[in-house]
Amino acid sequence: MKPHSLRKGLLGFRWRGVDVRPYKADGAEAFRDVTRQALFDDAAYSSQLRYFEIGANGWSTLERHHHSHAVMILRGSGRCLVGDEVFDVAVHDLVTVPPLTWHQFRAGPDEPLGFLCMVNAKRDRPQLPAADELRQLRELPGVADFLELPTR
Ligand code: MN
Repeated sequence: MKPHSLRKGLLGFRWRGVDVRPYKADGAEAFRDVTRQALFDDAAYSSQLRYFEIGANGWSTLERHHHSHAVMILRGSGRCLVGDEVFDVAVHDLVTVPPLTWHQFRAGPDEPLGFLCMVNAKRDRPQLPAADELRQLRELPGVADFLELPTR
């Protein structure tokens, strides 16, 4: 790509020249129905901006890592776990995920949940909760219900 360029926005939260990719290459049992589009990930930047979309009733991986996330909801609504709290989220809400904080996004039942997510270009790999960590999370008010898998 040229250093200066325009990629037109298309209908349906797509962008010309931006591929719709699988969310992650592995760990497919840890999430449901998530796609990833890299909007800005040139080597020249110290940050990357991605657009993720979670299908209705889908969820992202429950994970934590040393890098932070800066998230803006762009489509739909749903809920997210950040740390020990579950939040309702809707279009234009801003969600900050600090370092080493457990987090997961879940789409509502009616429409996809889409969001922009800014991260450091150089970042560590996500950690998944061990059994005892999952048990501790489930003891927090509201979190066990949040983590229940919805029935199709
Ligand atoms: Mn993450």
